[in-house]
Amino acid sequence: MSQNEVIANEIARRRTFAIISHPDAGKTTLTERLLRAGGAIQLAGNVRAKGERRRTRSDWMGIERDRGISVVTSVMTFEYGGCIFNLLDTPGHEDFSEDTYRTLTAVDSAVMVIDAAKGIEDRTRKLFEICRLRDIPIITFINKMDRESQDVFALLDEVASGLALDVCPMTWPVGRASDFAGTYDLQKRAYHLTSELSQSDDRMVQLGEEIDLVRAALPEFDAESFMAGHLTPTYFGSAIKDIGVTDLLDALADFGPKPRAQPADTRVVDAAEPELTALVFKIQANMDPNHRDRIAFARVCSGRLTRGMRVKQVRTGKLIPMHAPQFFFARDRALAEEAFAGDVVGIPNHGTLRIGDTLTSDEVLNFTGVPYFAPEILRRVHLSDAMKAKKLRTALQELAEEGVVQLFRPQDGSPPIVGVVGILQLDVLQARLAQEYGTPITFEGVPYSLARWVSGDKLAMEKFITTQRTAMADDVDGDPVFLASSAFMLRRAIENFDNLTFRDIKDIR
Ligand code: GDP
Repeated sequence: MSQNEVIANEIARRRTFAIISHPDAGKTTLTERLLRAGGAIQLAGNVRAKGERRRTRSDWMGIERDRGISVVTSVMTFEYGGCIFNLLDTPGHEDFSEDTYRTLTAVDSAVMVIDAAKGIEDRTRKLFEICRLRDIPIITFINKMDRESQDVFALLDEVASGLALDVCPMTWPVGRASDFAGTYDLQKRAYHLTSELSQSDDRMVQLGEEIDLVRAALPEFDAESFMAGHLTPTYFGSAIKDIGVTDLLDALADFGPKPRAQPADTRVVDAAEPELTALVFKIQANMDPNHRDRIAFARVCSGRLTRGMRVKQVRTGKLIPMHAPQFFFARDRALAEEAFAGDVVGIPNHGTLRIGDTLTSDEVLNFTGVPYFAPEILRRVHLSDAMKAKKLRTALQELAEEGVVQLFRPQDGSPPIVGVVGILQLDVLQARLAQEYGTPITFEGVPYSLARWVSGDKLAMEKFITTQRTAMADDVDGDPVFLASSAFMLRRAIENFDNLTFRDIKDIR
């Protein structure tokens, strides 16, 4: 086989996806089921999990344990039906929505989990909207069918009208609540039942009637419409009872999106191209508390990444050796000997790699669409031990590059300001500064409520900066940020300086 054929075969079997849902809908339970249904992958050069040390992976941070929330995004790779699945986990809590947004830049599809009793909830809707912005195809899984649920037709209607999406049921539930006995595959006309039912069973009678209605009333599956994000194939199940989970996996394997083309500043990169490109969308530090490690998660966008190769970090032009790229599984990790488009590899590094970094075999291009959002909460960092100022400077820079918070260094030299989208990010910052860097801090209020990235020609910028000296700061990359005390002050600045641009989203390069 030629190199191109090898790549084409490999990417054809990659399925990289995330699960989006409102807390409590069953994402964790479903994830466990998916991992169990899928086998661990045996790869050449597999290293053994480091037993006890690995156990800490999912509860690597005290704060996560204490609050019972998942703060980290990680990737889980498993194999099923000849496909390699990369499931990217997203934080459940909305205070970490920035992290979620970045993770969604690295998937090709999403599974939307809905609680059958509750229907579409707040957070499902928000995450759905992010997927829609990025044209990510969505498969719907209506969970908890083993409990009292809303009427199934009403639920489908809610998805369709609530999200302005065509809904196409691919399976249908047999029985409801405590009588929920499995699913009927409307396409393949096959039953997946937990126990045998006779044709005269009430549930089968009800099913027969409902199927007639479904066929008459609801749209047929249309692959093109699904790929464009206009139609969602819908499955029913119970994660806790392991019903409907293989329906979902079969769907992803059969028609789930393969690695898609990724937009960059100079052109669009097709997944089947032979040259390596990859995008860093997540940095995670100290997954192993015994061992200060820092892992950059990169999605391979094209070509082949092999262990030992040197890749170009486009932002700096540096060549970075891939000594120990890693795959992550449910309970362990292994050295990645090679990876293809759709795969997510963890790259250990000491602060060289950043969120938004593009890696290539040589070409100069930058993937777009990994954003920073203007934070809504701003706080000044107060260090009690002035001797540690230098250490704090490094720590804040590292944590900002990791995406824990955004960092604004005031141009007047006053102590640093951090910005967050959700208040819990501040708790994480505080805990990590104390535990990992030995620099305990407190927060103080600031007279600013809005941050905007400012750009424009040199002269106009200089003029603006002179008039706003105390309200100007540099972000983690040294880009100028205007801190406004109110929406009114921001409006005034925009009016007075109509030759400058004020942005509330920054595309990371
Ligand atoms: P997450 O917050 O979305 O990750 O939800 P979890 O997976 O933690 O589930 C939330 C709660 O719902 C837990 O108590 C689960 O045991 C329960 N749960 C999850 N799936 C099902 C299901 O299919 N049926 C029922 N009855 N309970 C479920």
